[in-house]
Amino acid sequence: MTTLDRDGTIATQAARAARQSHPLLEVDRLSVHFPITRGTVWQRIVGTVRAVDGVSFGIAPGETLGLVGESGSGKTTTGRAIVGLVRPTGGEIRFEGRALGDGSGSNRSRSRRRIQMIFQNPFASLNPRMTIGNIVADPLRVHGIGREAERRARVEEVLSLVGLDAALVNRYPHQLSGGQRQRVGVARALVMEPALVICDEPVSALDVSIRGQILNLLSDLQAQLGLAYLMISHDLAIVRHISHRVAVMYFGRLMETADRDTLYKNPRHPYTRALLAAVHIPDPHIERRRRARPLPGEVPSPSNLPTGCRFHTRCPLREYLGRPAECEQVEPEFRDLGGGHRVACHFAERSGEVDGNGLPAVARQRRADAAGNGASA
Ligand code: SF4
Repeated sequence: MTTLDRDGTIATQAARAARQSHPLLEVDRLSVHFPITRGTVWQRIVGTVRAVDGVSFGIAPGETLGLVGESGSGKTTTGRAIVGLVRPTGGEIRFEGRALGDGSGSNRSRSRRRIQMIFQNPFASLNPRMTIGNIVADPLRVHGIGREAERRARVEEVLSLVGLDAALVNRYPHQLSGGQRQRVGVARALVMEPALVICDEPVSALDVSIRGQILNLLSDLQAQLGLAYLMISHDLAIVRHISHRVAVMYFGRLMETADRDTLYKNPRHPYTRALLAAVHIPDPHIERRRRARPLPGEVPSPSNLPTGCRFHTRCPLREYLGRPAECEQVEPEFRDLGGGHRVACHFAERSGEVDGNGLPAVARQRRADAAGNGASA
């Protein structure tokens, strides 16, 4: 069985190796394309939005993979395709060794039951006309699991698992606080005893004071139940707190993936470096000295992505290198730099020559030295 340290890291190398050799979920070249149509009576397709465009990754039992990127990067669509809420255009999703969609109806339904989702907005995702008891029991009812009394007992069990009083079963969502509502969302996901939970921005709609509680709850449940998570978020601080590995997505493609510490300490893709440079630091002295700049260049249209590397219109490394032709002409391979650290950049080995703001490393060092001298003067 997989064991986790208190901080959520894997307890032993052996456990890590075991997890990597037996993935729970395998996503292989997944694509989700949406047609753009014109006309009201006779609709014709005039273009395509490639929301997810050939994405591959795996998640092991008991592991958390953080999926980060700006809004519109395709991370939520990836999660919704895994859970079956949107139909993939291409590629394959395998769960517990079996392709989702394969096999008899009962096998398909069993796999689908073992993958559940927690949604971003706990108020919008709960039916306001249903009681908490009925909301949590609904998946059991839909799948015809248990009798009424057994379902009631299971609902009380999961409510207690997520730290809610069983007396809330007769309340309605509007009678609960935001944090309680999100706990109901977690309970609804857990009632089916899933192995994998897709968490789509699970705390971004909550007050800052509640976020930590929900993240700690998710960590505790993982340690207790051996759950695997796909943690979708635009917030790199949250992903760092909870993930074992992190994947960075940009306009439908993975740009970089690595274990958490490697990615945060030694990011190799210019997009990851820019995202990290923009993370807010909760120290007013550091924050004042910092010069985080928004990425330059034009944000591409998702229906008309740039040729070659899709990040080339905004890439500070490309500017620093004098705009090499490969960036515009050849789509970079998602290559392994060693130890499972994979990057889609022709020049990843030179990414350390500029910082996340596109400033040469020499200038960065001079700035740091000047700041140090200023502080000591
Ligand atoms: Fe930047 Fe070129 Fe690397 Fe793309 S391939 S990230 S444009 S340096």
